[in-house]
Amino acid sequence: MKKDTEKVTWGETWRLSLRAAKLLENYTPGLFLAAGMDAVVSAVTPYAAVFFSARIIDELAGARRAEVLWRWVVIAVAVTGTLALLQHLTTGWRTARDYTHFYRYQGIYKDKLLSMDFADLEKQETADRLAQIQQNENWTGLGIIGVPEGYVQLVKGLSGVIGAAALCAGLFLTPTPAVTGPLALLDGPVGLLALGLAIVVPTVLSPWFQGKSDEADSTEAMSAAATLGNRIYGAFGFLTYGAESVARALDIRMYDQQTLARHYVSENRVFSADGPLARIKAGKGGLMMAAAAGLSALTTGGVYLYVCLKAWARAFGVGMATQYIGAVTALTVSVGEMLRWLMYLRNLTRYLRRTFEFLDIPNAMYQGSLTTEKRSDRQYDVEFRDVSFRYPGAPDWALRHVSVKFKVGKRLAVVGENGSGKTTFIKLLCRLYDPQEGQILLNGIDIRKYDYRDYMDIFSVVFQDFQLISQPLGANVAGSADYDRAKVTKALADAGFGERLASLPEGLDTQLYRDFDGEGVQISGGEAQKIAIARALYKDAPFIILDEPTAALDPIAEAEIYGKFDEIAGDKTAIYISHRLSSCKFCDEIAVFHEGRIVQKGTHDELVVDEGGKYHELWTAQAQYYDK
Ligand code: ADP
Repeated sequence: MKKDTEKVTWGETWRLSLRAAKLLENYTPGLFLAAGMDAVVSAVTPYAAVFFSARIIDELAGARRAEVLWRWVVIAVAVTGTLALLQHLTTGWRTARDYTHFYRYQGIYKDKLLSMDFADLEKQETADRLAQIQQNENWTGLGIIGVPEGYVQLVKGLSGVIGAAALCAGLFLTPTPAVTGPLALLDGPVGLLALGLAIVVPTVLSPWFQGKSDEADSTEAMSAAATLGNRIYGAFGFLTYGAESVARALDIRMYDQQTLARHYVSENRVFSADGPLARIKAGKGGLMMAAAAGLSALTTGGVYLYVCLKAWARAFGVGMATQYIGAVTALTVSVGEMLRWLMYLRNLTRYLRRTFEFLDIPNAMYQGSLTTEKRSDRQYDVEFRDVSFRYPGAPDWALRHVSVKFKVGKRLAVVGENGSGKTTFIKLLCRLYDPQEGQILLNGIDIRKYDYRDYMDIFSVVFQDFQLISQPLGANVAGSADYDRAKVTKALADAGFGERLASLPEGLDTQLYRDFDGEGVQISGGEAQKIAIARALYKDAPFIILDEPTAALDPIAEAEIYGKFDEIAGDKTAIYISHRLSSCKFCDEIAVFHEGRIVQKGTHDELVVDEGGKYHELWTAQAQYYDK
C-alpha cells in the first residue's frame, strides 16, 4: 500500500484517473461523452455574445449602416438561439446520465464486496477501508466519484481557452498606428512581454495556490479526523429518528438511551469551531485560497490597462476593445480553470490510490475452473480430510484435525455445545473460507479447484442468521421475481407454511414486512424460518443444510419440521446442526463436536450408551428439559 506522503506524479494521475473513467463508463455508458459535449457547448456559448456584440458596437460607433447592423442582429439571434437549443439538449442528455451514474456507480463497490473472498469481507479492516473511501466520496466528492467532474471541467477549460484565444488573437496581431512616446512600446517586445506576464503569471499561480489549498484541506489527516466524528454522529446523532429508531423505540425509552447518545454527540468535537477540521481550514488552506483570489484580480487589472492603452492609441475601435477585454478575461479564466482542474485530478490521485487498492484486493476463491458436472444421480461425495482452520487474526483453532465423509443421500447431524465449531464446519464446506491445513474434497478433488459459483450450486443452506427481504413472499422463496408458482407453493407447504399461506389473501404475492408497503405482513421469527427453509427446498440442490434452523421455533414446531424434513429431503444429502439432540435422533450418523474437534461419531443408539462420551453428557443434560 502506498503511503499518503508518497509523491503523486502526473503519470500516476493520468493512469489512475483514466482507469477510474473507464470503470465509471462501464457502469454508465455514455457518461463522459454526454458530459463532454455539454461542457464544450457551455464553454463556447458566451463567446458568441462577445463576438456579435463587438461587431454591432463597432458598426454603431463607426459607419452605422442599417443593412449591416440588420445582418449582424439576424446572425447573432440565429447563432445564440441555436447554441441555447443545443445547450438545452446536451444538458438534458448529461443530467439523465448523471442521475443514472449516481445510482449505478455504487455498484462498483457492491460488485467488489460480492465477489470478495469471504475471509476478506469479514475483516474489520475491509469495512474500515470502504468506510473511509465512501466517506471521502460522500463528504467531499474526493475519490472515483470526482473523476467525471474533473475531466468535464478540463474539457470545458480547454474549449474555453481555444475559443478565447481565437477571439483575442487580434489583440496581439493588430499593430498600433504610428505613435510616439511610451505608447509605441505596446507592440514591441516589452509591451507584449508585460502583457504576457500579466496574463500568464497570475493565471498559473492562482490555480496553483488553489490546488495547494485543496491539498491542504483534503489531506488524509483531515478525513481521518473526520472518520471518527462521522461515525459517532452516524451512530448517535440519529438515534431518535429514522426507521432504526422505531425498531429501537422500546430500548431508547426504557433505558433513556437518548441522554447517553446526546453525551456522545456533545463530546464529539471534530466538527466544532475549535476542532481539528476548523484548524486545518483556517491554516495553510485558507491562506492559499486568499492568495489565489488576489492574484486573479491583478490579472484582470493588467489586461484592462493594456487593451485600453492600445485602443487609446487607435489600434482598434470600441467594439473590438470590448471583444478583447471579454476574450482575454475569458482566456485567463479558462486557463486558470484548466490548471485548477488539473491540480484537482492530481489531488484526487491519493484518494484513487485508496479506491483501487480496495478494488484490487486479490481474490483467491474464484481461481478454480472445474465444473461440478450436473450429475443426474446426485452422487456428490464430500470428504473432510484432516482439516484445521483458524479465523483470520484469531489466535485459536476453530477446527482441528477434522475428518469426516458424507454418505450420499444420508442424514448427518452435527451436534455440540455453543462454540464447538459446528457453524465453522458448514462455512468451510460452503467454501466461505479455505482451511489452513488439510483438504475438503468433492468427488476426490480439492474443492478449491472447482468454479466457485458452480460449487455453491450444489448446496442449499439455511443459516442461523438467514435474511428475508421486503419483497413478495414468492419472490423471497424463489430468489427471483419470475418463478414457478406451483414449485414455490409446494416448497412452502413442505416447510410447514402451507396453512399460513392459505390464510394470506394475496398468497404468494403477499408483501413481507412493511418497509415499502403499509399492507405488508409482519411475519414471526418461526414463520420466517419456515420461509427460509422453503427457499432452501426450492433451490433443490443435492445437499441441504440446516444450521440450527429451529432456534426460533418452539419444541413442537421443531419436532414437526425435523420429522418431516427427513421425508422431504428425499434423495438429498442432508446435514443438520442442532444443539437440541432430540431433533437429531433419526439421523444416520451424528458427529459430536467439542472444542473444534470431532470427538465422537455414530448413531444415536450407539452414542447414547457410551456413558463416558460427550454425547451422553449432553443428552443427559438436555433430557431434563425434553421428553426424549
Ligand atoms: P458453533 O456453531 O458450534 O456454536 P462456531 O463454529 O460458530 O461454533 O465457532 C467456533 C469457534 O470459532 C468459537 O470459538 C468462535 O468464537 C470462533 N468464531 C466463530 N466465528 C468467528 C469469526 N468470524 N471470527 C473469529 N472467530 C470466530
